[in-house]
Amino acid sequence: MLSIKDLHASIEGKEILKGINLEVKPGEVHAIMGPNGSGKSTLASVLAGREDYTVDSGEITFNGKDLLELEADERAKEGVFLAFQYPIEIPGVTTTNFMKTALNKIREYKGLEPLDAVSFLGQMKEKMKLVEIDQSLLSRSLNEGFSGGEKKRNEIFQMAMLEPTLAVLDETDSGLDIDALRIVANGVNKLKNDDNATIVVTHYQRLLDYIVPDFVHVLFDGKIVKTGGKELAHQLEEKGYDWIKEEAGVA
Ligand code: ADP
Ligand code: MG
Ligand code: MG
Repeated sequence: MLSIKDLHASIEGKEILKGINLEVKPGEVHAIMGPNGSGKSTLASVLAGREDYTVDSGEITFNGKDLLELEADERAKEGVFLAFQYPIEIPGVTTTNFMKTALNKIREYKGLEPLDAVSFLGQMKEKMKLVEIDQSLLSRSLNEGFSGGEKKRNEIFQMAMLEPTLAVLDETDSGLDIDALRIVANGVNKLKNDDNATIVVTHYQRLLDYIVPDFVHVLFDGKIVKTGGKELAHQLEEKGYDWIKEEAGVA
């Protein structure tokens, strides 16, 4: 589904990603861990096509397409979903209206008719139940005055509605209390199927108690220096990152 080959990327002339290789297959959950400043958010942003990042070399193929050729909105329409660390607030636009617009843009891109009101509401109801989000949240301005937990719930709701092929979740964790962690994890677990994949970017192992990854990759100084299974996350929690740096010869 996703294939990243020798990806180098920079921001404001400073090289951040220094040769990333990653293969993600349908049905898989990958965790990207690593110390602060190692480039985790940069990788997520480059996948989503955020403009402030420059890809200097390498390839990203998504479902057979050259992802780097696509604009951010085209990537979203192709099925890539990025949940940001800091969700934007849109005064005057309710989540409901935002979702309707987003869904119909995707349908238009795929050559489908806009969803009729009944189908849209049906889909909203189904997904509201799935992520246990309250109706009142959906009729408020997007993210405006939302608590941390409400923002998370809303993000997961958007993900449920858009049914992405590849979801990239960039979590700082720092602002997340245990309830918000559970919301994110339950959402990801419920939406998981054999045809989609998730990349969870996280500094701490805590989130991975709830979302069990198939693979854990450790990013250090712009490179994946170690890959393992879910047990690697527990080792990191216990021993920190220093032993990995030593093992990888990058300390
Ligand atoms: P992580 O998410 O792993 O903490 P980031 O991808 O956010 O790491 O950052 C990687 C490096 O890129 C850090 O050294 C950071 O200071 C730098 N960086 C990130 N954003 C910017 C920016 N807008 N301008 C300059 N440097 C940046
Ligand atoms: Mg950071
Ligand atoms: Mg980050």
